Amino acid sequence: MRVIQDIADQLKRSKNILLTCHTDPDGDAICSLLALGIAMEEIGKEITFYTESPIPAIYRFLPEVNRITHTLTDVEKFDTAIVLDCGELERIGKQASKVSSIRTVINLDHHITNGGFGDLQLIDTSCCATAELVYKLIKEIDHPISPPVALCIYTGILTDTGSFRFSNTNRAAFKICEEMMAMGVEPHRVAQNVYGTYSLNRLKLLNHVLDSLEVSEDGKLAIVTVTREMIKKTGTGPEDIDGFINYPRSIEGVSVAVLIQELSPNNYHVSLRSKEMIDVAAIAKQFGGGGHFNASGFSIEGGLAEVKQRLIQAVSGI
Ligand code: 5GP
Ligand code: MN
Repeated sequence: MRVIQDIADQLKRSKNILLTCHTDPDGDAICSLLALGIAMEEIGKEITFYTESPIPAIYRFLPEVNRITHTLTDVEKFDTAIVLDCGELERIGKQASKVSSIRTVINLDHHITNGGFGDLQLIDTSCCATAELVYKLIKEIDHPISPPVALCIYTGILTDTGSFRFSNTNRAAFKICEEMMAMGVEPHRVAQNVYGTYSLNRLKLLNHVLDSLEVSEDGKLAIVTVTREMIKKTGTGPEDIDGFINYPRSIEGVSVAVLIQELSPNNYHVSLRSKEMIDVAAIAKQFGGGGHFNASGFSIEGGLAEVKQRLIQAVSGI
């Protein structure tokens, strides 16, 4: 039997389902979580949404988004956990081991570096977004896609393909989004929320981040840094950083863009983006992280200068 059928059957059998995704969730993680959860509720399941990190302001227009909790208790009550958009279970954050204690853990993902955790895995790297997998799963369950679910699926695909600009943009992206539009999704409204409504403080933060730009001598590597001081000074939060890496990425001649985010003293999260045939998932893996061919990340300890040096070395080695 196909895995997708097994997962559909498991969900139909479940009564109480936990849905979760990775820390610092992006549009696709949040939208996949909401789309599948809403659809499960429509077929009569008890559902709980959990993310460790807060939801960025630009995604707070999504249906049921206020039901996402950031504390996890009573895990005994769940018969199934669905982990979305996570290459490893640990990406859920501090509650990963609690989630893994749930009787059936389903791993739904599109990352090339997915290690295959869980009891049932649906990992398809040809999917443009986890939201594409969620769409296919809801179809497999043979449940009609409702307008709120359509809005989430559309937004997940839109954001993960960078508005149909990144190399993961496939025919399914257009096909599914067209179908979601037929269900009532209004692209200009989604775009207004996701790309056209930023706080003034976020813009001030961007100013600092752009100021930190460093480009390698050969012009191929561009690095920007976000310190905790910048966040504090501008009254922003880590969720305001989403999208900043596209600035160094857009520089002519740059093939690898890096955003280094200070999490705590000597502890950083590094985001990597590449153009064309440079495999940044492989670079992230060297540092214990993962992701996609053209978009990846990892966490690292050390001084900022040392982190940059190690990165420059790793990038020059490819
Ligand atoms: P971002 O740079 O937006 O945090 O992440 C880019 C891609 O890399 C995403 O697909 C994300 O899931 C993945 N990624 C980011 N950080 C990590 C990490 O620490 N570990 C793993 N395995 N993947 C990561
Ligand atoms: Mn994601």
